[in-house]
Amino acid sequence: MTIFDLRNRVAFITGGNGGIGLGMAKGLAAAGAAVVIAGRNKIKAQSALSELHSLGGQAEFVELDVLNEASCRQAIERAVERFGRLDILVNNAGTTVRAQPQDLTARDWHLVMNTNLTSAFLCSQAAYPHMVRAGAGKIINIGSMMSVFASSYATPYAASKGGIVQMAKAMAVAWAKDNIQVNTILPGWIDTNLTRKAREEVQGLHEKVLARTPAQRWGNPDDFAGIAVFLAAPASNFITGAAIAVDGGYSVQA
Ligand code: NDP
Repeated sequence: MTIFDLRNRVAFITGGNGGIGLGMAKGLAAAGAAVVIAGRNKIKAQSALSELHSLGGQAEFVELDVLNEASCRQAIERAVERFGRLDILVNNAGTTVRAQPQDLTARDWHLVMNTNLTSAFLCSQAAYPHMVRAGAGKIINIGSMMSVFASSYATPYAASKGGIVQMAKAMAVAWAKDNIQVNTILPGWIDTNLTRKAREEVQGLHEKVLARTPAQRWGNPDDFAGIAVFLAAPASNFITGAAIAVDGGYSVQA
C-alpha cells in the first residue's frame, strides 16, 4: 500500500543494533527503507545486520557514541554519504541509572540526560538540512511511560523522557513548514537488555508489570515495527508533535 511504502527512503536509528531500535529497524526494512543502525557495540550490530539482511533489506552499521556531539554529526553524514539522502531519523538510544534522587551524582544525571535527550537534539539538528533538501522528513523519538509517570529510582530518566516529548513538540512546530513531522513513541514495559537489568534491580517488577498491563504481558521489540512504519510513512503526514503510547494499555488502566 503506497501510504506505508518506504522504498527509496533512508532511515537512521540510534541504538538500532538491538532491543526496541532493532525491532523498529526490522519494520522499516520490511517496508522497503534502507536502514542505518548506529551504536557502539559492533558485535550486537553484526547480528542485527544479519537479521536485517535476511529480510532482504539494505542495511549498514555506523559507529556512534551519542555522548559525543561530533560523533552524532559524523554518523549522520556517513549515512548520507553511503545512501545519498536521509528521510527518517529514529532517536532511540537510551540508558538509565537507578538510584534514589539523594544518591545520584551529577555524573549520573548528565549521563542519562545526554544519552536520552541531548543526543536526540543533536541528531535531529544534524538531520534537519538533509530533510529540508529532500523536501520532507520524519523524526521519531522514543519516550517512555516515564514521560508521563515517574518512579523514585528514575529521576534523570523521567526528566529526560518528559523532556523529549516537549522537545518533539517544539521541533514539530518549528519544522512543519519544511514538511518534517516529529513524533514520540511512549513504550510500556518491553523485554530488552535495559529492562532485564531492571528486573534484577527492582524487586517485584516483573509481577507488577504483568498486573498493571491490561494485555497481561511484557512487550517485545517486534511490537514497535508497525508504529515505526506508520510514523515514518506518508500515512502519518498530518500527525506531528504527538506522543503515542505502545504499552498494551498500561497508561489507560485506572
Ligand atoms: P537496549 O539497552 O536494548 O537499547 C539501548 C540502545 O541504546 C542500545 O542499542 C545502545 O547501543 C544504545 N546506546 C546507549 N548508549 C549509547 C551511546 N552512548 N551511544 C550510542 N548508542 C547508545 O534497551 P531498549 O531497547 O529497551 O531501549 C531503547 C529505547 O527505548 C531507550 O531510549 C529506552 O529508554 C526506551 N524505552 C525502553 C523501555 C523498555 O521497557 N525496554 C520502556 C520505555 C522506553 P550500544 O549497545 O551499541 O551502546
